Amino acid sequence: MNKKRIKKVVIAGGGTAGWMTAALVSKSLGAKIDLTLIESDAIPTVGVGEATIPPIINFHKVLDLGEKEFMSRVNGTFKLGISFEGWHDIDKDYVHSFGFAGKSNWAAEFHHFWVGAKKRGIEVSEYGDYCAEHLAARKSKFAIMPKNSFNYAYHLDAGLYAKYLREVSEKYGAVRKEGKIAKVNLDADDGAIQSLSLESGEVIEGDLFIDCTGFKALLIGEALQVGYDDWSHWLPCNSAVAAQTELTGQPVPYTRSIARPFGWQWRIPLQDRAGNGLVYCSDYLSDEDAKNYLSQNVEGKLRNEPRVIKFTTGSRQQHWKKNCVAIGLSSGFLEPLESTSIHLIQRAITRLVQLFPSDGVRQSQIDEFNQQCRDEVESIRDFIILHYHVTERDDSDFWRYCRGMSVPDSLSHRIQLFNETGKIFKKDLDLFAEESWLQVMMGQGLMPESYHPVVDTMSDESLEKFMRDTNQSAKQKVDRLPEHHEFIDYYCKSKMV
Ligand SMILES: Cc1cc2nc3c(=O)[nH]c(=O)nc-3n(C[C@H](O)[C@H](O)[C@H](O)COP(=O)(O)OP(=O)(O)OC[C@H]3O[C@@H](n4cnc5c(N)ncnc54)[C@H](O)[C@@H]3O)c2cc1C
Repeated sequence: MNKKRIKKVVIAGGGTAGWMTAALVSKSLGAKIDLTLIESDAIPTVGVGEATIPPIINFHKVLDLGEKEFMSRVNGTFKLGISFEGWHDIDKDYVHSFGFAGKSNWAAEFHHFWVGAKKRGIEVSEYGDYCAEHLAARKSKFAIMPKNSFNYAYHLDAGLYAKYLREVSEKYGAVRKEGKIAKVNLDADDGAIQSLSLESGEVIEGDLFIDCTGFKALLIGEALQVGYDDWSHWLPCNSAVAAQTELTGQPVPYTRSIARPFGWQWRIPLQDRAGNGLVYCSDYLSDEDAKNYLSQNVEGKLRNEPRVIKFTTGSRQQHWKKNCVAIGLSSGFLEPLESTSIHLIQRAITRLVQLFPSDGVRQSQIDEFNQQCRDEVESIRDFIILHYHVTERDDSDFWRYCRGMSVPDSLSHRIQLFNETGKIFKKDLDLFAEESWLQVMMGQGLMPESYHPVVDTMSDESLEKFMRDTNQSAKQKVDRLPEHHEFIDYYCKSKMV
C-alpha cells in the first residue's frame, strides 16, 4: 500500500459533512497536518439536514463548543424524539422518544412488565406514559437539569451550522479555498488521487483526500469508480421537496413525521422558522404534484419556493478506497426518516481520526473502516425499513408495496424474535438501542405474544403499584419543567430572531 506519510489532507466540499470533518480533524490533528477545504460558492449545498440525534452532543463536547452559543448561532431548538403520525394506520400516532421507559430488571426490560400487566388484566397507561422524554415531548416542555437530565438532540439551521463549524475549523488551522473542482488527477502508477485541479487552473495536491462533495461523489464515485449498492427495493422513496415556512406557534421539542399516501412529510421547528419537506417515491407522485401537495399541506406561510431533491437510497460499496475517504452524502444515503445522516458523518470522522493513517495508508485500516461503516449502515437501514414495512396502511399502492415487500433476513429475524418473545438485542455497532426498536415496533403495531417469566414472580398488587409509581415518577419529572420555548428564551435565544 501507499506508505507515504500523511501530511497534507484535502477535504473536497463544504456542506455539513465537509465542515464537520474539518472541525474534528483540525481540532484533533491540526498541529500534525495541513488541512485544506475546497468549496465552491457557485455549487449550493443540499440545504436540508436539520434534525439530529443525541450523540451529536458528544461531538460538540469533543470540539469544546458551548451549548448555549451553539444553539443561539444555529437558531436551534431541542429535540426529544420524533412524532410518527399515521404510520401504523392513518389515524394512529406514536412518539419515538430518546428516553427510556420505566426501570428494567437485569433479566427483563421494562416493557415485559408492561406487556405482562396488560395480559394479566391490570390497568396500564400507554407505553410512552412511563417515559419522561415522551411525556415532555407531548406537553412541549423542556429543560436541561444538572442531574437526571433528559436524552435530547437538536434541530438546527444547516447553513448556519456549516458557517459556525467553519469558524471553529479555521481557529484550529484549517484553510478554506474557494473554487470549483474541475478534475481529479490520479497517480498513473497506483491509481490513488494525486491532486485536484480547480477551474481557475490551480492544482491542489494532497496525501489524503476526503470526499464531501455530496451526491456528486466526485472523488470516490466519479474518479475512483467505487460502485453503489442500491437499496431502493427496500427504501423506495427517491425524491424530496423541501421548503421553509414561518412558524405558526411556539416551536415544539420534537420532529414531526407525517405519513402520506406516497411517502411522508417532515416538520422541523427552529427558533425563527420551520423546515418542511415531503419525501416520496416518484413511481407514485410526480415532482410537480409533490410541490403542490407540500405547498397545500404545510402550516404557516411559505418562505421560499419548494425545491426538488433527487436521491437513490443505498450505500457506497467502499467508503474508503486508496487515499480517499467518503464522508456524508458521497458515501450513501438511507433517507431522513430517523435523522441518521449527520450522525453517520460524525461516526465516520471519529473512525477516521481513530484509524488515522499518519505513516501511510494500509489495507488493514481501509478494511476495518469499511467493515465498520457497513455494519453500522446496514443496521440503520433495517431500522428504517421497519417503519415502512410493519404497517396496517392499505390505502395506497405505495403502502401496499411497502407492506408486501420482502425485507432483509436480519430484520425478519428481529421482528420474529420480538413477536414471539418480546426480546430485542443490540449488536455492537447498532446505533439504535433496544428502547428505540421497541418504541417503533410497538408504535407500528407489533405486540409480543409472551413476556419474561420474571414478571410473574410479582403479585397483581405489586405489579400494579410498580406500574403506577413508574408512571407517577415520569409525570412528576415533567410537571416541574418550563415550556420548551420559555427555556429557549432563557437559555439560548438567537440574537438573530
Ligand atoms: C431530503 C433530505 C432531508 C434530510 N434530512 C436530514 C435530517 O433531518 N437529519 C440528518 O441527519 N440528515 C438529513 N439529511 C442528510 C443531510 O442533509 C446530509 O447528510 C448533510 O447535509 C451532509 O451533506 P454533504 O455535506 O455530504 O453534501 P452537500 O450539502 O451537498 O455539500 C456538498 C459540498 O460539495 C461542494 N461541491 C460539490 N461539487 C463541487 C465541485 N465541483 N467543486 C467544489 N465544490 C463542490 C458543494 O459546494 C458543497 O459545499 C437529509 C438529506 C435529504 C436529501
